[in-house]
Amino acid sequence: MKAIVIHGAKDLRIEEHPIGTLGPGQVDIAIEAGGICGSDLHYYNHGGFGAIRLREPMILGHEVAGTIKRLGAGVSRLGVGDRVVVSPSRPCNVCDYCLVGQQNHCLNMRFYGSAMPMPHIQGAFRQSLIADEWQCHKVADGVSINEAAFAEPFAVTLHAVARAGSLLGKRVLVTGCGPIGALAIIAARAHGAREIVVTDVMDAVLEKARTIGADRTINVLMDRDALSVYAANKGYFDVHFEASGNGQAVRSGLEVLKPRSVLVQLGLGGDVSIPQNMVVAKEIEMKGTFRFHEEFGLAVDLINAGRVDMKPLLTGIYGIDEAIAAFEAAGDRSKSMKVQLSF
Ligand SMILES: [Zn+2]
Ligand SMILES: [Zn+2]
Repeated sequence: MKAIVIHGAKDLRIEEHPIGTLGPGQVDIAIEAGGICGSDLHYYNHGGFGAIRLREPMILGHEVAGTIKRLGAGVSRLGVGDRVVVSPSRPCNVCDYCLVGQQNHCLNMRFYGSAMPMPHIQGAFRQSLIADEWQCHKVADGVSINEAAFAEPFAVTLHAVARAGSLLGKRVLVTGCGPIGALAIIAARAHGAREIVVTDVMDAVLEKARTIGADRTINVLMDRDALSVYAANKGYFDVHFEASGNGQAVRSGLEVLKPRSVLVQLGLGGDVSIPQNMVVAKEIEMKGTFRFHEEFGLAVDLINAGRVDMKPLLTGIYGIDEAIAAFEAAGDRSKSMKVQLSF
């Protein structure tokens, strides 16, 4: 089978790899769709992010869906020909964090396509993937395999909503409208947000934000004052999903958040300076959010039931042999939202 392997920054290769052995409780999946994620792009463009660096070749990818080709012994819930989306999150379920229900903090996590541990955890951009039965969620008839492959990034934003608390009737600010910011809009809308204002520095993505449920969009590069008006009377927003990783977005969010509101940090950036006194005086709750656990099943259910529409976010599909072009396109925010590979 072919697999998409990263060897270092800008060194992406399509290689032949052996198909793994099919163990009990496992299924062999012909992968058909794989979404390129921000973390895949970091490995491709920079060889890693922060302290996490590539130290050996690694198959990329963790947003995948496909069709089951073979069943291992004892598989009872799935059959050959079933279309499934695969959770890339593989916690150990026995460490201290797993035992208190915080599997996203598992000490022995084997998340696909991650250079965090050594040896690295090989990813799922491959023509054949051996996965455990419990990782697989069936895709409903009428839902395309490409839509199903959005379950993973959507689950990330559903977890962010869970971190924020109830959004019912709340005014929500989303800063940064890449795939995760856009999915945060959809997640917030599905959870009853009253009003959603979205900022970015690119008109093209803001136009997309309006089509998927933003009430108002602001290009903060062109019109900084449009956001500042929300700072009157100690602020306007109840919840801020920060999906840009940009320090200025954090600071401007703090200005327009109301007292006792919540800032949920989704975007990864560097070291950011924040106005401590504003956090204190407004009693702002700053929260991080990392991956997901139970939200993966919820993401699949919402997509399967047609309660959310992922289709507007898919801006390109490339064949496995065009992987480099796909990664270049995915990194160009002016043209792409979510780019997927077909295998
Ligand atoms: Zn992802
Ligand atoms: Zn664990």
